[in-house]
This record gives sequence, C-alpha cells and structure tokens, in this order.
Amino acid sequence: MTIASVNPTTGETLKTFEPHDEAEVERRLALADRAFRSFRRTAIEERAALVRKMADLLDEDKASLAETMTLEMGKPVVQARGEVTKCAAGLRFYAEHAAAMLADEPVTTTAAKHGSYVKYQPIGPVLAVMPWNFPMWQVIRFAAPTFMAGNVALLKHASNVPQVALYLEDAARRAGFPDGVFQTLLVGSDRVQAILEDDRVKAATLTGSEAAGRSVAAIAGRAIKKTVLELGGADPFIVMPSADIERAVEVGLWARIQNNGQSCIAAKRFIVHEAIADEYEERYGEAMSKLVIGDPLDEATQIGPLATAQGRDEVNAQVTDALSKGAKALCGGGTVDGPGWFVQPTALSEITPEMRVYRDEVFGPVTSFFRVANIDEAIALANDTDFGLGSNAWTEDPAEQRRFADELEAGMVFINSFTVSYFDLPFGGVKRSGYGRELTHHGIREFTDIKTVWVD
Ligand code: NAP
Repeated sequence: MTIASVNPTTGETLKTFEPHDEAEVERRLALADRAFRSFRRTAIEERAALVRKMADLLDEDKASLAETMTLEMGKPVVQARGEVTKCAAGLRFYAEHAAAMLADEPVTTTAAKHGSYVKYQPIGPVLAVMPWNFPMWQVIRFAAPTFMAGNVALLKHASNVPQVALYLEDAARRAGFPDGVFQTLLVGSDRVQAILEDDRVKAATLTGSEAAGRSVAAIAGRAIKKTVLELGGADPFIVMPSADIERAVEVGLWARIQNNGQSCIAAKRFIVHEAIADEYEERYGEAMSKLVIGDPLDEATQIGPLATAQGRDEVNAQVTDALSKGAKALCGGGTVDGPGWFVQPTALSEITPEMRVYRDEVFGPVTSFFRVANIDEAIALANDTDFGLGSNAWTEDPAEQRRFADELEAGMVFINSFTVSYFDLPFGGVKRSGYGRELTHHGIREFTDIKTVWVD
C-alpha cells in the first residue's frame, strides 16, 4: 500500500511519502533498543513532565492538527478538535495517576522478615499497529501509559494517515523525550512481520480489523511475544419500553454517526422492544434524515465522507445486499455521486440473518433495526454475533439493568448511555473483538513484567 494523504472529500492526493527502507527501519529499531535501556531508568516524575509537555503541545497545535486529521481521513473538524482535546487530557491523566497504578504492591505471605511484593517493570520497545479512524486518540491511548511505564513506542500507523503519524513523532521530540522513545515507522502492513519478529521488539498492540489482528497475533505467538488486540465491533443498542425515548433517539443517533459512522464502538445494531419500536424507528429515521452532510472542514457539517473509496464501496455493497433481500430503508439507502467518498446515512429495518448487515461490522453511518418481544430475546439477539466490544442498553428498570450488565457478552456495558473510552475505565473487547485491555491500571500493566519479590 502506498503511504499517502488523500483527501476523502475530493479524492485529491495531498502528499505521498517514501516508505522507510530496511536500513532506516534497522536504524530505528537499534535506536529504540538503546533508548529503552536508559528511558526505563528515568524517574517516573521525569517521564510525567515530558508527558505533560506533550499534552501542552497538542493543545497549542489543536487547530492545525485537527485540520490535518480532517484532510487526511474526513472526520468533521469539530470532532477532530475534540479528539485532540481528549488526547491532551489523556496524557495529563496518566502523568498524574500512573505512579499509583505502577507502585509496588505488598502481599502478606510467610516471608518472615521483610515480606513479599509485586513489582511492575517496563517490558521494552512495543510495536503499535494503529488505525486511521481516531488517528490521534488510538495512538495516545496506548502511548500515554507506555511512556509512563518506561517503555518505548514504535508506531506503525495506517498508511492513509502519515501526516498525523509524523506529527506525533515530532511532538514527542519537541516535548523533550529522548531520541528513540517515540518513533514512527513509515511502512506498509507487509513489513509488520519482520519488525515484530525482531528480538528487540518485545510486544505488540494492534487496533484494527479482525484479519490484521489474527495475523499480528499469529506472528507474535510464534515468537512468544505478548499482544493486545482491539478489533472490530457490532455493538448492540437495546431500547426497552421504560427508556426515555427522546434521549435514546438523540444519543443513539450520535452513537451511530460520530466519526462518520467509523468507530469500533459505534452502536450498530439497534434492538428495540416491539411496544415502542414504531415510535423509536420513526423518530430516529426523521432525525437521521436531517443530518447535515458535507465538507468536514465546515463547522456545521455533522457527517463527512468515509475515509477511503474502498470503505465507501463496502458500505454501499452491504446496504444494497440488505435492500435486495427485503430490508426496508427508513431513510437513505441510495448512493451519493462524487467527488469524495460520501455515503447516505441510512436506517434499515426488517433485517434477516441472510443479509450481510446481520453479521458484518458496518463501518459507516448505517443503522440496522431489529424488534424483540422481551428482554430474553433482546439479550439473545445482542449476543448473536462474533463480536463483543461495547454494548448499550436503555431501561429504567433496575432488574433489567442488572440482567444486561450480567448477560451481555461484551467488554463494556453502558446503561442509558453510549460506549465511550474513558481514561479511568478499562477499554477492550471479548470474543472476536480482541483481548487485553487498554487504559487504567489494567491497560498500563499489559506491557509490564509482573515480578514477584520475596524477601526473607
Ligand atoms: P485495518 O485494515 O486492520 O488497519 C489497521 C492497521 O493495521 C493499519 O495500520 C494497517 O496498516 C494494519 N494492518 C492491516 N492489515 C495488516 C496485517 N495483515 N498485518 C499487520 N498489520 C496490518 O483496519 P481498518 O479497516 O483500516 O480499520 C477499521 C477496523 O478497526 C474496524 O474493524 C474497527 O472496528 C477497528 N477498530 C477497532 C478499535 C478498537 O478499539 N477495538 C478502534 C478503532 C478501530 P495499513 O494501513 O498499512 O494497511
């Protein structure tokens, strides 16, 4: 794959980049290895100061950085600015809290004199294979804890967001991080295997598709290296009769269309109790048909283009497949003439298992509606998927809330809200949505060696 910034709004190639050749990758791996040997010994307060400085730079660069993101992958610029703000806050959160998350943990044992404790030590250079959809946040979500743990990062970003990838390397340098603590590898996915097999790379985290996760996990498995995988999702959004329907429409629509519908934790399958389904679908379809679609640099735009032509074609093919098999379009359902990779926001009802939208992840602003007669059917349908990332359920009934929390097969359950990655809550999935967790002490410890110490 060529490494290029291509504007999804126009299809125009903005910039192309020469991938790093083997000698350059070798130079960077050697640098990462050297950097780790000294960075791991820095005091955590020193690392926190660098992380805070990086946060300040992100805040200062917010306007131009947001525009770069929008030009590279089509996210509405207002949302791009929000993403930069979140990244700066995330960096500061880990600068403040990581020391407590990584502190030695005393354990009461029979060690007579001095007792026992558990120590968390940095693991080494970690390869981060990252997607384009939240091109800043996906990286910072990994990098902030990584820096604080004393690891060093090698970023292989998606090939369509090289400017963001290079910005991040430059921001780390300007923040004062020692050379080699954060490096971008400008390489295509075909080069990941050799990098991951290199002895100097100790672990990998991948956020992306199931296919990419499977490949990286297999390579890492053969080399006995740890991985964290954050893969796709087809999150349910369940609405029960006791729910506040107006809010459930407003929040549900946002949960589906944020980032132009290209979010792993977007609500994708709307499972609505039959007692309120007519009203919910009608209100939702009406709200969706009023969305402002257009140039994502325009402040008023709510939905921009999809990030790639291939993504646009895939979503259009999924919608066409559903309509050809009897689905009904409550709104949208057509295609949008060029230029740019726009799709029509679409809500589909009367979905059956033969349709691709029943099982596939739909990575665009397309909602699938299902009707159920009771909570048992809602849970069974919600769990009838290979994925298990986030999930959302709307009900005021405490007994129903408990059942959803207990029985939904997902890494995250949000009741009367929508799935968000918060700094202070673990993030990750079950089933084919991946394994391992990001964020909180769970995330920061994924890439540490957990050492038992016994002092008798
Ligand atoms: P993708 O094709 O898997 O790309 C993601 C990253 O993986 C890119 O850097 C890509 O590099 C690389 N990659 C692709 N194939 C690879 C392989 N065989 N070996 C090693 N690396 C490989 O994903 P996408 O379709 O662009 O992104 C959308 C997917 O990511 C969706 O499924 C979405 O749900 C998922 N996602 C998950 C989360 C989460 O937190 N769980 C968050 C965001 C997105 P190139 O660009 O060079 O191909």
